Order: sequence, then structure tokens, then C-alpha cells
Amino acid sequence: MPLIAVRNVHKSYGAPAGLVRVLRGVSLTVEQRALCAIVGPSGSGKSTFLAIVGGLDAPSAGEVYVGGHALHRMSPGERARFRAAHIGFVFQSNNLIPVLTAAENVALPLSLRRLTARERSLRVERLLDEVGLRKEAGRRPAELSGGQQQRVGIARALVTGPALVLADEPTAHLDSQTGLEVMALLRTINATRGTAFVFSTHDPAIESIADARIVLRDGIVVPAVRTTEMNGPCRPASTSACATFSGIHVGR
Ligand code: ADP
Ligand code: MG
Repeated sequence: MPLIAVRNVHKSYGAPAGLVRVLRGVSLTVEQRALCAIVGPSGSGKSTFLAIVGGLDAPSAGEVYVGGHALHRMSPGERARFRAAHIGFVFQSNNLIPVLTAAENVALPLSLRRLTARERSLRVERLLDEVGLRKEAGRRPAELSGGQQQRVGIARALVTGPALVLADEPTAHLDSQTGLEVMALLRTINATRGTAFVFSTHDPAIESIADARIVLRDGIVVPAVRTTEMNGPCRPASTSACATFSGIHVGR
């Protein structure tokens, strides 16, 4: 079973000037343990797509399955509970709580879990260690660099042990070197934990970290064959991202 299956998803917004059709029939699957980039120009629907896959928003039409669960049939409350239990998010600007330390920020998603204080702090410690911030556990966000803050955001997304982490332009506010370091960390976590990452970017250097990619243009997935012609050769693993009649399949 694929981790994500999206079938003919549409998303439109009512605007004064008329209906804005942001996603216009997106179909694709993403396998477990994938490291997948979503690329496309600004306004192509990347954030909208991630919000729908993450259950933050509902599609106007179409089907969205994550781990076999039908998100499109859930109420907003059911979606919120599903998200908290199964999906991690990394945001463009890390959304850390300024008055909390790095460790307290990482622990936040655990507040709804029945864990002992000891289990909780062990998990947080392990995560901070994994993202290279063992010594920074007691610092507040303002005392950390941009890259360190984003690492805290990554640790927070992972602390509940989700199979899927969605990241919307996670390196957009970082310099290119720091951005690459953060992506290398995602790659390592993907390899060691088997967490699937689906991240959006419009930076080719960041995109090349992924095993596969989905190209969005004007709310439609551009088939992989044309992608190759337009953007140069696919990376070896990207050959698994092949166009089918039902959409794009992303896996290893
Ligand atoms: P991307 O992340 O690729 O830049 P988005 O998914 O953010 O693209 O947005 C795609 C289009 O949808 C943009 O033109 C944006 O203005 C429009 N859009 C996004 N959210 C809303 C909304 N809540 N209401 C109206 N239009 C929206
Ligand atoms: Mg966006």
C-alpha cells in the first residue's frame, strides 16, 4: 500500500474576481520511506497540495489517502486528530514558541500523549541528539541560528514518530549552505528512521537531495517524461517516478 494516494484532487477558492482553481486534478502516489521533492514555480499549488495531504485543508473534490486512511471523508476534527497522530510538519519559518527552550518546543507534540515525564524527556533528548543539538537543549529560539532553529523544527516534527513528514519550503529562509546541511539531515533521518519526507522547494540544489520529484505547474502534475526534457536528466532514483494513467508514482 502506498503511503500517500491522491486521486483527481481539485482545490478551488472563491475570490471576488471569481473562482481560483489552485489544484486541477492531481493524481499521484508516494511510497513508504520516500524522499520526495515537490517543485514548481510560485503559485503552482505546492503549499495547497501539502496542506491537503497533511489534513490541514480539505480538497474541493477528489480522494486523499494517507496510510490507507481516507482524509477526504473525515470531519475537520477527525483530520486534526489524524494529523496529530500520524503526520509531522516542518514549516518555512519554523513556528517555534519563543518563550520555550529547544527541548520544550520539541516536546510540544507529546503533550497529548500518555507518556511519563521520563519517557518524554528521553524521547526529546534522543531527537535533539539526532539533529545535532544536544548542547542547545536549554536555549530559546532567539539564541539559536536559523539552521539550528530549523533543526529544532525537524526534531519537533519527528518526536511523535510519524511515518510521514511534510515540509513546505523548509530551507526558504536559510542561506544555501545551511539549507543543504538541513536537507542532508533529512536524508540521514530518512535512511536511518525510514521516515518519508515530502518537501516543496524551488531551489534546484535542494531538489537534488530527493530520490524523486513531483513537478506542479498551474495546479497540474507535469508528467515525468516531460520533466526530464524540461529540467535535464532525472537523477537515477527518479526513474521510479514514472507517469501512469492514474498519475505519477513516486517511490524508490
Ligand atoms: P505555491 O506554494 O506553489 O506557491 P500555493 O499553493 O500557495 O502555491 O498557491 C497557489 C495559488 O492559490 C496562488 O495563486 C494563491 O494565491 C492561491 N491561494 C492559496 N490559498 C488561497 C486562499 N485561501 N484563497 C484564495 N486563493 C488562494
Ligand atoms: Mg508555497
